[in-house]
Amino acid sequence: MDDKVILTVATTGAWPSKEDTPYVPLQPEEIAEEIFACYQAGASVAHVHVRDDDNKASMKYEKFEQVVKLVRDRCDIVLNLTTSGGLGFSDEERMKPFIELKPEMASYDCGSMNWAHNSVFINSPSFLEKLGPAMRENGVKPEIEVFDAGMIYNALYYLKKGILDSPPHFQFVLGAPGGMAATVENLVFLKSLIPQEATWSALGIGRGHLPILYTALALGGHIRVGMEDNIYYSKGVLAKSNVEFVERSKRIVAEIGKKLATPDETRNILGLRKSN
Ligand code: ZN
Repeated sequence: MDDKVILTVATTGAWPSKEDTPYVPLQPEEIAEEIFACYQAGASVAHVHVRDDDNKASMKYEKFEQVVKLVRDRCDIVLNLTTSGGLGFSDEERMKPFIELKPEMASYDCGSMNWAHNSVFINSPSFLEKLGPAMRENGVKPEIEVFDAGMIYNALYYLKKGILDSPPHFQFVLGAPGGMAATVENLVFLKSLIPQEATWSALGIGRGHLPILYTALALGGHIRVGMEDNIYYSKGVLAKSNVEFVERSKRIVAEIGKKLATPDETRNILGLRKSN
């Protein structure tokens, strides 16, 4: 499996609006269509966010339910639901989608941080201590999202306490204002801190997208692309679909002599239960 690379697509996220880019999918039908197109192009994991009827960041359960159903009707891509969805949602709102819908993965944001120089992204100890066991009970693998090095030490603490299970899976999120910058040096450093048996993936937000993608591949990691992280295909040119990012990644992965993992290979690499 050493030659297989897991490609996650994050089509929507909490922030891009139709004013930022008319191509971002925001409502369930368009999100599911986009995920299916990305699956056909080679993505094996879909990291899912939803929006409310006004296209604002949301943890509305009914929207997740619709997306999950529409995607599962179309394909067996691994589903990874956000447990953040934006800022300020209650613990219950954040946990309900994975408890009810039982995706194979969900995000686990492993600490709090100042967000975009204007707000606070809260992931309190009490929430994280609930979230780990709730994911375990529902057969959901945590994707431990790391925005700075301290979040890795939080994860190591929760692994020791039995809040998280080993082997863990990390997603390094670099370039968020308030977190670590999207640099090659930062990714090399973060990778050096995680346990040997861990699996990991990385993404760079905005301009850092490609340098982090190349570095993750060079270091033997997995990758994530999509409009949650980056709406531009190249300088000043909006991507017209998330598929463009998937297709480019597939070409880059092929150039280094590797292949994109299928959903079942991804389940195998990450030790996921099969839910579809
Ligand atoms: Zn997300």
